[in-house]
Amino acid sequence: MRLVFLGPPGSGKGSQAKFVVERYGVAHISTGDLLRNAVKAGTEIGRKASAIMQKGNLVPDELVTELIVQHLDAADIWSRFLLDGFPRSINQAEQLDATLDKRMSPLTMVVHLHVEHDALIKRLSGRRTCTNCGRIYNVYFEPPEVDGKCDDCEENGELMQRDDDNEKSIKNRLTVYDENTKPLLAYYEKSGLLRTVDGSGDLAGIAEQVDRVIQEH
Ligand code: AMP
Repeated sequence: MRLVFLGPPGSGKGSQAKFVVERYGVAHISTGDLLRNAVKAGTEIGRKASAIMQKGNLVPDELVTELIVQHLDAADIWSRFLLDGFPRSINQAEQLDATLDKRMSPLTMVVHLHVEHDALIKRLSGRRTCTNCGRIYNVYFEPPEVDGKCDDCEENGELMQRDDDNEKSIKNRLTVYDENTKPLLAYYEKSGLLRTVDGSGDLAGIAEQVDRVIQEH
């Protein structure tokens, strides 16, 4: 099974990916996570990407595509992956199609999580992530039991706010989504791969809907 999760920032791609990974054993590849790791490690790609990410702009296609291909190759997971945050432009989608065609591993399905922009702003500004296990909280809707600490990780789990989850960057990321990524809906609709799920509401309810569209395949 080869899946793409498509949706604006804050639509819950990362949270829903966790459910699908646990249930179906696919490998979760988040370009945002790969890039943040590259920034932290100070690699060449990370140095090039850092300032671009902070503003909420898109990192150049060739860097992101290279990162994805390297990762798929290294882990040898061409047959079972879930891409979260990639592709984010028509050009990236075409590069992905060409790469997968070469390996005779076409996409199985593209799951689109639909959430209105107003709801996204609150989700993104309230988002906190555990630095230890990656669990995602929201200070408005799903706060931790103890302020700033992960419920699952005892004293190791500090909750952090992402550098790009500030008001200016959030607004820019939503504009970038509308201009660059939204056209992918028509692109994947045309190829018959697109399935849209209502991404508002509680995590478990959304996970059920995601599971339903996967099962229907
Ligand atoms: P995310 O964690 O998916 O919200 O991504 C965080 C940031 O990483 C984005 O705002 C972009 O700057 C960069 N990024 C992630 N995925 C891509 C991509 N496919 N193409 C270009 N930039 C990306």
